[in-house]
Amino acid sequence: MFFLYLFVAIALSSPPSFTILYNNVPWDERLETSWGFSCLVEDGGKRILFDTGGDGDILLSNMKILKVNPKNVDAVVISHIHADHLGGLWRFLEVNKKVTVYLPSSFPGRIKKRVEKMGAEEVDVQGPMEIFPNIYTTGELGKGMKEQSLMVKTDEGIVLVTGCAHPGIVHIARFAREFLQEEIYLTIGGFHLIGMDEKDVEKIIKGLRTLGVKKVAPSHCTGGKPIEMFRKAWGKDFYDMGCGRKIKLMR
Ligand SMILES: [Zn+2]
Ligand SMILES: [Zn+2]
Repeated sequence: MFFLYLFVAIALSSPPSFTILYNNVPWDERLETSWGFSCLVEDGGKRILFDTGGDGDILLSNMKILKVNPKNVDAVVISHIHADHLGGLWRFLEVNKKVTVYLPSSFPGRIKKRVEKMGAEEVDVQGPMEIFPNIYTTGELGKGMKEQSLMVKTDEGIVLVTGCAHPGIVHIARFAREFLQEEIYLTIGGFHLIGMDEKDVEKIIKGLRTLGVKKVAPSHCTGGKPIEMFRKAWGKDFYDMGCGRKIKLMR
C-alpha cells in the first residue's frame, strides 16, 4: 500500500514536459521527419497527444524510437482538421482506443463517428475547458479555420502549444493570458508564418513581445526565415523545437 501511495505521489508531482513526436523540422536524427506536427504533453501523471501528424506509421515509429508507449496516452487533442495534424489519428487509435479524443465541435459528424466506431470516447470542444488538472484547451478560436490550442499551467507560467495557429499566434497567446490570468512562459508549435513578409513577421514578434511571452519554440509551418527572425529576437530564450526534442520544466 505504501508503495502505491508513493507511486501516485511521484506521478502527481512529475514535472510538465513537452516532446515533439512529429515535425517537418528535424532535431533528433534517428527520427523520420515529415510535414505535420505532434507533441506529447506530460503533466501530473497524465499524457496528452496533441495532434497526430499526417502519417500514423511515422508517428508510431518515432514514438517507439523515443520510447514513448502509445498505450500510456490518456487523451488525444486534435487542433484542427488539416490532414498534417489529423491524419495519424486512425493508426494511433488502432493501437490505443482507450483514450478520450477532444475534437473541435465544428468537425464533420463523420469524423466524430469514426472515432467512436473505433472504440474511443469523443468530446466536442467548443469553448475553453479543463482537460486534466493544469491542462486546458482554448476551445475553438478563429473565424476561418477553427482551431484549438493547449494551455498548460506551470510554476514558470503558461506553456502554450499550437498546431498551425491559423487564428493567429498573437490572438491565441492573448486569449491564453487573459483566460488563465497568468503570464506566458513558452509557446511551442506552428505559428503559421511561412511565406509571410518580413515586415509582417516583425509585427507578430512585436505582438508576442508586448504580451510578455518569455520563451519561444516555433516550428512546423512557422517557416525557415521567420524561425530565424524569432531566434534573433529571443536569443537564449529561443528553442530549436524540431522532431524529437523534449523540454522538461520544473515544478
Ligand atoms: Zn500544419
Ligand atoms: Zn493547418
